[in-house]
Amino acid sequence: MRIFDPHIHMTSRTTDDYEAMADAGVTALVEPAFWLGQPRTNVGSFVDYFASLVGWEPFRAAQFGIAHHCTIALNPKEANDTGLAKDVLEVLPRYLAKDRVVAVGEVGYDSMTPAEDEVFAAQIALALEHELPLMVHTPHRDKLEGTKRSLDLLREQGFPPEMTIIDHNNELTVELLADTGVWMAFSIYPDTKVDEHRMVSILQQYGTERMLVNSAADWGRSDPLKVKKTADAMLAAGFDQADVDTVVWDNPVAVYGQSGRLELDGGPADPNALFEGSSIKRGGS
Ligand SMILES: [Zn+2]
Repeated sequence: MRIFDPHIHMTSRTTDDYEAMADAGVTALVEPAFWLGQPRTNVGSFVDYFASLVGWEPFRAAQFGIAHHCTIALNPKEANDTGLAKDVLEVLPRYLAKDRVVAVGEVGYDSMTPAEDEVFAAQIALALEHELPLMVHTPHRDKLEGTKRSLDLLREQGFPPEMTIIDHNNELTVELLADTGVWMAFSIYPDTKVDEHRMVSILQQYGTERMLVNSAADWGRSDPLKVKKTADAMLAAGFDQADVDTVVWDNPVAVYGQSGRLELDGGPADPNALFEGSSIKRGGS
């Protein structure tokens, strides 16, 4: 089975994870730019992070035969550092022009402050200008309200629903989104939020169209094999392989393919390759 994980933070994962993902059938992924666990204090930290998402991390993934893509944005939480946010917004266009940058994201709301409104609106405008999809993170608190407010802002700015991915959904938000034409993504976690069995129930109720499943896999308790586990749970529940392929391959290819920047034929893994003189091997190389 071919798997495309459309939202996974590989920066926070080890090479063992890459190896296990490749063994499970993951051959493509999207890594969204996000909050790094503590606030950054200057724009250079963002520049270096964005550079790693288009440089080192795709190189590392390629060692395992995985095609790495990313999304670039200022995350909602750090949008509240208004001085820094202004500087970060200024450097974004440089990265939005790069190969393998397949969307603007993660954007959206954290605490729904006026500063977040402003940065969200500015990044919707950037996605329109660069003709890129937009990946919207829904807040962990007041999720339903945050999702409604995100939809309102997207409509106000005339952002096309077919270019919109709304992420971190649950049973409540999917009901709100099902008829809007946006892509609905679900982060599958080990013991919080939506697990693979709840996900199967959602797919049974709403079907597979415009549905995306991801492992999110960050520094918290998370599992980079959750897309594979959801695929297995779908098969066990009676979905056929074509339904599974729709969710774990065709849908991510369709939505992120709208960027014109997917590079899915990464070629075979090359453990001896170098990135600016560095390899992933340690000792003897
Ligand atoms: Zn994320």
